[in-house]
Amino acid sequence: MKPPKDKYEIVSEMGKRRGYFWPSYEIYGGVGGFITYGPLGSALKRNLETKFRKFYLQPLAIVEIESPVIMPGTVLEASGHVENFKEPTVGCVKCQRKFRADHLLQEFGKMTDTQTEKLDLDAVMEEIQKLGIKCPDCGGDFNKAEQFMTMFTTTIGPYSDSIGYGRPEAAQGIFVEFKRIFESMRNRLPLGVAQIGQALRNEISPRQGPVRLREFTIIDIEFFLDPEDKKCLIINEVENETLRFLLAENKQKENPEITTMTIKEALTKGIIQEEWLAYFMAKAKQLLILLGVPEDKQRFIEKLDYERAHYSKQGFDQEVYLDRWGWTEVSGHNYRTDFDLARHMNASGVDLTAFKETEDGGKRFVPHVIEPSFGLDRLVYTVLEYAYNKQGKRNVLSLPRDLAPMHASVFPLVNKDGLMEKADEVYHMLADSGFVLNWDHSGSIGRRYARADEVGIPIGITVDYQTLEDNTVTLRDRTSWTQVRTKLDELPELLCNYFANKIDFNGLGTLIER
Ligand SMILES: [Zn+2]
Repeated sequence: MKPPKDKYEIVSEMGKRRGYFWPSYEIYGGVGGFITYGPLGSALKRNLETKFRKFYLQPLAIVEIESPVIMPGTVLEASGHVENFKEPTVGCVKCQRKFRADHLLQEFGKMTDTQTEKLDLDAVMEEIQKLGIKCPDCGGDFNKAEQFMTMFTTTIGPYSDSIGYGRPEAAQGIFVEFKRIFESMRNRLPLGVAQIGQALRNEISPRQGPVRLREFTIIDIEFFLDPEDKKCLIINEVENETLRFLLAENKQKENPEITTMTIKEALTKGIIQEEWLAYFMAKAKQLLILLGVPEDKQRFIEKLDYERAHYSKQGFDQEVYLDRWGWTEVSGHNYRTDFDLARHMNASGVDLTAFKETEDGGKRFVPHVIEPSFGLDRLVYTVLEYAYNKQGKRNVLSLPRDLAPMHASVFPLVNKDGLMEKADEVYHMLADSGFVLNWDHSGSIGRRYARADEVGIPIGITVDYQTLEDNTVTLRDRTSWTQVRTKLDELPELLCNYFANKIDFNGLGTLIER
């Protein structure tokens, strides 16, 4: 018997069928680690970005920049990436395929991230042999382990010695431009600068769909502070928020326990060292709730000394629980100190300090940085997995209404007696008001509702014979299947309020008893 499908399989199948996402270059056999977002997926991703800006960036007046994806080698040498951005690989002696050694140990040796992270190359090879792990593709043996640099390398222009890299994070684009950004923002601290854009990592053997990509969209926020004035004046907004932690001290235990505490407690006990780090972590939890991930399916995992990236003084990963992959990182929160600016200042010879007036004249210092960083593609996938549910035999995608790729469907009840023309009129009236709509007149109304439910369109608008008489339409809620009757001339404003989360579905009209 075939095992039941997991949610990844269901969401991926639906993603292909309905146009959310699929593996890129399929007609040529596909290339691992790349996905293409279809018409609905790209709209969902854009809406998620908009929501992110509204919730995470705009309240703090965090500004955005756009810098190039290709970076000269000098930048990434200075930042430490050329030296540190490496992963251990092993190659199969029979089929020559290469695999990421730590992932093999996790998958076939049941080792944890924390355990594999501290192994050097010899120890990795020793564990692989001890556990008898063979090539998952052909059963062959592995040869010795090597470090593989996971940045894409290219040359800039026709000069073979002018090495360039695809940026592995958007953060460096902010650090190297800090001087101009800071001056253009009138030298104020704290200063938050974000970049939402493509990043490239030449993953060794990605087999996890949208969760491990070679080209992906990253959201990096660099929050610059005076190291002698790191207080967060709005910490009280989130101090009662509770977070679930997997603390470093518990990580190596057999069944590591989760510690739940408020932001206030975490700061008082020194679990989180920096107030701004705590603030951004609390907001990250709240964001994931808004995206449909309940509290008990989220946690923050503290990084041990040897697990942290080379630039980080303290770090937590936010993880969500996914059906196939278990706990999966969706954001990282790091205290990067002055590491990056100091390195670039040193390598470029350009002064990247800030100046602040004080009572005895003034001081120059290198700003410190708190960095929240999100993987947008993982968020998109997480939203889809958590929105998916089954009602009877019907697939329903209960996307949060402000993320849904289309606001409403417009259906003529039948394709005759002037109903098509009337529905067309309704479509254009709503499109002119800025709504994104689905037009569907094929098949029975029941089939059309089912298609719209699976795609995740929050509202169905049906034009029927009564519409011709009194200019009212039936609205149907995707999730509860409740129906209300609404006057057409009030519809644009009502829908506007509904999608701004100001009213619920029942506020859209008069309930129809069924
Ligand atoms: Zn093989």
